[in-house]
Amino acid sequence: MPSLDQLPRTRLQHAPTPLEPLPRLTEALGGPQLWVKRDDCTGLALGGNKARKLEFLLGEALAQGVDTIITAGGPQSNHARQTAAAAARLGLGCILVLTDAVPGRDPAYHSNGNLLLDGLFGARIELLPGTADADAEMARAAERCRAEGRKPYVVPVGGSNALGLMGYVDAARELIGQARQQGVGFTHVALASGSGGTQAGLALGLALGGSAAPAVGYCISRSSAEQRPKVAGLLQAGAELLGIPAPLSAADLVLEDGVVGDGYGLPTPGMLEAVRLLAEQEGLLLDPVYTGKAMAGVIAGIRSGRFGRDDVLVFLHTGGAPGLFGYPDSFPVCAGA
Ligand SMILES: *Cc1c(COP(=O)(O)O)cnc(C)c1O
Repeated sequence: MPSLDQLPRTRLQHAPTPLEPLPRLTEALGGPQLWVKRDDCTGLALGGNKARKLEFLLGEALAQGVDTIITAGGPQSNHARQTAAAAARLGLGCILVLTDAVPGRDPAYHSNGNLLLDGLFGARIELLPGTADADAEMARAAERCRAEGRKPYVVPVGGSNALGLMGYVDAARELIGQARQQGVGFTHVALASGSGGTQAGLALGLALGGSAAPAVGYCISRSSAEQRPKVAGLLQAGAELLGIPAPLSAADLVLEDGVVGDGYGLPTPGMLEAVRLLAEQEGLLLDPVYTGKAMAGVIAGIRSGRFGRDDVLVFLHTGGAPGLFGYPDSFPVCAGA
């Protein structure tokens, strides 16, 4: 990998994140050996996968001498929260364009969790209806900044572009080295696939590192038919940035349907079961939007025999637990038990 280490980068995360066994969950499910790569512990503002992407994105922003970071997401966006924290830490202004597209939420969805933290980090929050065009609104916000004499930098939704996904090319390298050291011969890496940069970077990095294990992406916002070209396009763009031919084509990508339910951010029975199971069996917190649904897919895959006893599965925990506090109605407290 010639140029990854030459890209501008700013240190934001605690790496390497731990690679830990999940012995009680493995036993409870009776399937493959399960491990977790703890990217919920990247350190920045309660952790998560966006810290890895932001090291490269904000590295470029600093190199350009900007003073304001603009990004977009939903009211419970983990990406927005980590971007706001990174901007605060780097002494930059932050504008968050938050489009409100998930219907029927508990009032906490608009006051607690990630949104509460965005405010603490001093971000300027523009809360817009779910029908708003986030990219157009970010461009408008950037225009307003320039008119005020400021220098904005727009981070795309989810931090998913060629530069952002370098964070996961790097993470794949970290995982391969760590697994070798710990004697973990993993056969699959399972993760949530949203804006797609994490899966694209991980798949690219695993292939470049000589691992045959696929990055199994559970689609949490759209069908795999729609997600495949997005992830493939990102992987291609990432390979171009590194100046190498893409080692994987769209057809080589592993994408799974069946966990999104009624839509992005809407709870499913499988998500509720997965969040509870991981909490009860391992003391580990998943989130209602991404990792809960991805783990629901893993559990379904074990029950259906897609993953067997000879497999060694690493679950990439991409973070998101602050989102739990925006979903109190999904996790009622059992008082007096
Ligand atoms: C953003 C996010 C993802 C998805 O990553 P993408 O690169 O957008 O596909 C997964 N899990 C959590 C907790 C996230 O915040």
